[in-house]
Amino acid sequence: MKMKMWSLKVAAFIGIVVGVFGFHLQAQAYSGFWVKDDAEYAMGQRSLAARAGQSYQNPLVTELAQKVIAANGLDFSHYTFQGLRTNEINADCAPGKNIWVWDGFISFVNGDKEIISYVLAHEVGHAANRHWLKTINKRYTNAYGAALLGKAIAPNSQQIQSFLLTQSQIIVLHGYGLDKEWEADAFAQSTVEKMSDVNLATGLVYFRRVWIMEEPAFAKMTAQQRQAQYINPHPPSPERWQYVSKRINEYSGGKVGIDYDGTVWLNKNRIFKPVNEEGAIEQAYWMAGWLARVVHDLGFNALLFKADDSNVFVITPGMGSKTFWVDKFDDDADDVNLIMAKLKIAGAKVIE
Ligand SMILES: [Zn+2]
Repeated sequence: MKMKMWSLKVAAFIGIVVGVFGFHLQAQAYSGFWVKDDAEYAMGQRSLAARAGQSYQNPLVTELAQKVIAANGLDFSHYTFQGLRTNEINADCAPGKNIWVWDGFISFVNGDKEIISYVLAHEVGHAANRHWLKTINKRYTNAYGAALLGKAIAPNSQQIQSFLLTQSQIIVLHGYGLDKEWEADAFAQSTVEKMSDVNLATGLVYFRRVWIMEEPAFAKMTAQQRQAQYINPHPPSPERWQYVSKRINEYSGGKVGIDYDGTVWLNKNRIFKPVNEEGAIEQAYWMAGWLARVVHDLGFNALLFKADDSNVFVITPGMGSKTFWVDKFDDDADDVNLIMAKLKIAGAKVIE
């Protein structure tokens, strides 16, 4: 019970909310799926009804969801996006493409549009890829596939309904499974790449913020509990962080790199590393994401850098300029001149 409370409290992303609603499904073989998608729709309707008291139209969620849907060329009318009145930090996707962004999550990120867009894109990734249907059918096939091949089980039998209810409750606790979470993360990053007003490193910033919040609880866990959390895909694992970092590097053609500690690389040269300042690490993430976008969109030679004490100005024709502050450079680059020299080595045009 303790684990359950913990995992619900810290869940950054969630699977679904179905088991608690109760349902009567017609389970039938169809197009390779044992459970029909109209059964998913029916489950979705039950989810909507069960949460009607807590749900509301949040204009911010609607605005950002429309952008996420448009970026992916999907049909907004096939989805519902709502706010959920609760202090829990979460967002989730129920069957039938019904997505909720919880008030506690919006508060946790101070209404940050980029982070909300990123998490919305993750949830849309679950919905667009039909993860509820696939997960339920996989579990169903594993349990009953052999028997069904030999002798049909009545699809509305008590046995199967009881199975679906139990499995749905397991999904509530453990999410869709790691493979589906990876697919949703990939979908979210691809979405961000298509949205010019969302920083490519948004996932990195969000994972880090959640991890910092979770770390004290994680440190107190036994090895067994940690293993359980690894099975549970909701906490941001190092692998998820590294995946987004790798995607940013790829997006820039291998030219921009970012490490967990905020070290930023340009053309395999370390250009700076913030220390002892949490805000500076986030700033470095944002900078790497922005640099990767500039390099991808405008080309590496469009960058101009200007140093002023410990400020680094990054200027790009047509995209304005941004100032990135770092409180201290690493040992290999402890003064601005050296950084500028490294930028020159990296092939960037430098103005001073
Ligand atoms: Zn997820």
